[in-house]
Amino acid sequence: MTRKKRCWNSSSYRTVTAEETTRRQQWLKLSRQAGTAVRKLHRQFGHCPSRVLTEILRASGSRAEYFKAAKLIRCDGCEHEKPKPQEHIAEDIQFNQSIGIDIFEIKDSNGKRYSVLSFLCLGTLYHRQPSSVRQADRLVPNCVYQMFNDKWTQNMGFLEEAITERGWHNRGDFPRGLTARGVQFRTIGVKSPEQLGRTERRGAILKGIIHRVINELKASGDDIVKMILAEALYTKNFQSRVRGFTPMQWVFGKLPRQYDKRSHGSWSIAECPR
Ligand SMILES: [Zn+2]
Repeated sequence: MTRKKRCWNSSSYRTVTAEETTRRQQWLKLSRQAGTAVRKLHRQFGHCPSRVLTEILRASGSRAEYFKAAKLIRCDGCEHEKPKPQEHIAEDIQFNQSIGIDIFEIKDSNGKRYSVLSFLCLGTLYHRQPSSVRQADRLVPNCVYQMFNDKWTQNMGFLEEAITERGWHNRGDFPRGLTARGVQFRTIGVKSPEQLGRTERRGAILKGIIHRVINELKASGDDIVKMILAEALYTKNFQSRVRGFTPMQWVFGKLPRQYDKRSHGSWSIAECPR
């Protein structure tokens, strides 16, 4: 039977090792149903590794073939991103005590750049970001302050300490406005990015999820990037663990509602309509 090759079985890899050849042969022996189901699960759980996928399948009492598929799965999006280095455990702090503020850049499949402002609670690791902002639009200090008020202060109240880098977007109205409301505004050293380490690291994890999805879907355009951004953020807040609980549980006291698979099919983070 001729089988249509999907991304993880594609012949886009120039040098194919013997191990990879064997893996592909074994993958093709699996039923289409098992391959599709495991692939969807991999996407739905934020491009999780095989180990996590196996645990999910075990919890749902899946058949042996599905476990084999979880072991053999290979995703172009994940291959594109390198494995994450080890992270350090931060000190014990409360929600909304210290907030790390950072900006990172993402690119869609057409190479269009977006600047993403990101707010991270350093205690609970609850992550929030306003939306993607195009590089060309430039983030002026007034705009950053407005975004922070809209997306953080409005819902979470005033924090104790804001930690940022010495970027031009973190000057002017932003520090003045926060300081006037009793927030300690702390900027890190010019050549000491490690002082904002946890915020940078968490931003990199989020960026990794976004890039995996973008690369896999070949997604481009403002609307789709914003959609991917929102779902990647949800996935991260839902799947990270701080002492056994997700950031969402620490902040809201319960897990959020997930999309209903019965009524919405398998629509998920990596399966947005193009
Ligand atoms: Zn993946």
